[in-house]
Amino acid sequence: MSVFDDLIDQESVIATLESAVNASKSDTSESQEMTHAWLFTGPPGSGRSNAAIAFASALVCESGGCGTCVDCVTVKNGAHADVEVMSTEGLSIKIDEIRELVLRASWSPSVANYRVVVMEDADRLTESAANALLKAIEEPNQQTVWLLCAPSTTDVLPTIRSRTRSLLLRTPSVTAVAELLTREGISPSMARFASSASQGHIGRARYLATHESARSSREDILKSIASVRDIASAFTAAQKLAEIRNEREIQAMKDAWGAQTTKISSSNSKAIKELEKEQKSRTTRMVRDYLDRALLDIATLYRDVLLTQSGETGELINKDMTQVIIDLSARHESVATVAKLQAIMASRETLARNAAPLLTVEGLMLQLK
Ligand SMILES: [Zn+2]
Repeated sequence: MSVFDDLIDQESVIATLESAVNASKSDTSESQEMTHAWLFTGPPGSGRSNAAIAFASALVCESGGCGTCVDCVTVKNGAHADVEVMSTEGLSIKIDEIRELVLRASWSPSVANYRVVVMEDADRLTESAANALLKAIEEPNQQTVWLLCAPSTTDVLPTIRSRTRSLLLRTPSVTAVAELLTREGISPSMARFASSASQGHIGRARYLATHESARSSREDILKSIASVRDIASAFTAAQKLAEIRNEREIQAMKDAWGAQTTKISSSNSKAIKELEKEQKSRTTRMVRDYLDRALLDIATLYRDVLLTQSGETGELINKDMTQVIIDLSARHESVATVAKLQAIMASRETLARNAAPLLTVEGLMLQLK
């Protein structure tokens, strides 16, 4: 057993990490295989942070990441004294957080040979925060290892990029994701459905397989697309998308965080203001992530429509929606389907650039009618 077992379809990344781990354990190694700053990149859901956390385990485990010792288990639980995982639910990581992190990272490791910091969303560093981090990476402490994660190398400052070794994870295959979910105890048929609907996004597949509300939300969205026929129904569908967003998932996510955020013992109004700002930023990010996921689902639906229109016999991504797909295929030519797919992708980009969510979705629905 190895901590790298759960990194599916990432053979070349694993090989690089294993040789780095071997080099780090050998006192005499002159090789350049180990370095103190790494950048894990790859599309959302490819397992960037899982790869970074597995590498962190392997660095602090005496056996190079056995997956079963106290070090490996505590890293996995987020409780290892020398491994810190920084994730953010907000839109950005601020300079104050980085200053504190850099300070903690400079301490000597308490039990392991390294102190390892995993930063899950390095693309969310503000410019000043990135510069504060750069200083720490430029003047490396021999015992500290930085593992930064971002969608692509262009999402971090060039100065940081040039001082890190980057690794590119690929989108795992649907079959590999289904196998992973089955290993985790999910029934094979549910695992197949969830991994197909999520198209290689591990986290999304797992969420879909284990949350009935996520499955019915996906179904509602895809079915509502079939009802878009004219301007009025386009607006209704857009509104419905926004409603589902508010009522279901957003509330569920808020509830999950509620326990941490409602207990304000301080009467300090500055602290409350900061907290409100943080909550707002978190909500904005949740809305954006949620809508992006919904748009991806809709894109896979039109991909299936295009496949059906072309008469190909390839496998549908959304098999459970076969009737909706057949209806949509009969409604217009494949040229129009391509245009709709392009409109969906353009809307995702617009949303990523902070556009107003409802307006963007309304504009899209009008193009889908
Ligand atoms: Zn171990």
